[in-house]
Amino acid sequence: MRPTHRWVAALGLSVGLVASAFAQQYPTKPITMIVPFAAGGPTDTVARSLGAAMTKTLGQSIVVENVGGAGGTVGATRAKNAQADGYTVFLHHIGMSTAPSLYRKLQFNPMTDFETVGLVVDVPMTLIARSDFPAANFTEFLKYVRENKAKMNLANAGVGSASHLCGLLFMSAIETDLTTVPFNGTAPAMNALLGKQVDFMCDQTTNTTGQIAANAVKVYGVTSKARVGTLPNVATLQEQGLKNFEVGVWHGLYAPKGTPKAVLDRLNAALLAAAKDPDFTKRMADLGATVYPAAQMTPAAHAAHLKGQIELWAPIIQKAGAYAD
Ligand code: ASP
Repeated sequence: MRPTHRWVAALGLSVGLVASAFAQQYPTKPITMIVPFAAGGPTDTVARSLGAAMTKTLGQSIVVENVGGAGGTVGATRAKNAQADGYTVFLHHIGMSTAPSLYRKLQFNPMTDFETVGLVVDVPMTLIARSDFPAANFTEFLKYVRENKAKMNLANAGVGSASHLCGLLFMSAIETDLTTVPFNGTAPAMNALLGKQVDFMCDQTTNTTGQIAANAVKVYGVTSKARVGTLPNVATLQEQGLKNFEVGVWHGLYAPKGTPKAVLDRLNAALLAAAKDPDFTKRMADLGATVYPAAQMTPAAHAAHLKGQIELWAPIIQKAGAYAD
């Protein structure tokens, strides 16, 4: 070996040692978990519960940073541009797979700008309306919406959010265009619904279960294929005549592209441990969410799911004809 080669090899060795020492010590300070929607909403609820569970394994707190706006794309862009050192992770949902079809100019590529850590939970949505909505059931609800379409306000969390996707599919299923009102997340949208400033919306059970139980909103259906265990009396939209209507809000944990493999392994191990944490699993079950099985909580399964979902939604969104810049 010539001296220069020996020097390069030694340098490579020491870089490797530094990297592995870094990974062994990781994390030595709090980790930021970016949530691309407002605090207090459904994604935020999953993130805070997950963060608390992962903290138990990682020994450092996970601090949620809410970066709402443009249906989750502002937060995703922030996460993409964060340092790939393991101190920023990103929790996002199905919106990661619909944004590429919805936005003509997207600042990130979901497939190439992120590392996938693993799938987290799948959350059904509910179709809910203000508490004084004048309809006793879904049939009356549809009739009222159609007859009053000019004055209906359908809330969502911006183009690219799950509530937007669900609303889009709903309008397309009932062949009725309505005025949509975007918020930074469905937490503020829920406040507007409770205040009767908007008429209805789709939102995850992680945000609506409590409001439904308290009769603070009216519920007209769930978006899952089968009924939700925690809401046994609420019929599915399919059951009530909306053929093939199904939206499951899957969530995944990401890190910026280039995050060291050893760090990703630590994060994945903490995610797997969270899936067995009784506080996390109970909270998710109480809110109607299903934690993914361990086999799908892997970077590879998450990446494959993301790719499949991007391909699945592209033609459906194209057909519905909704675009944003
Ligand atoms: N996840 C919600 C949605 O997509 C927004 C939120 O979490 O606030 O509509």
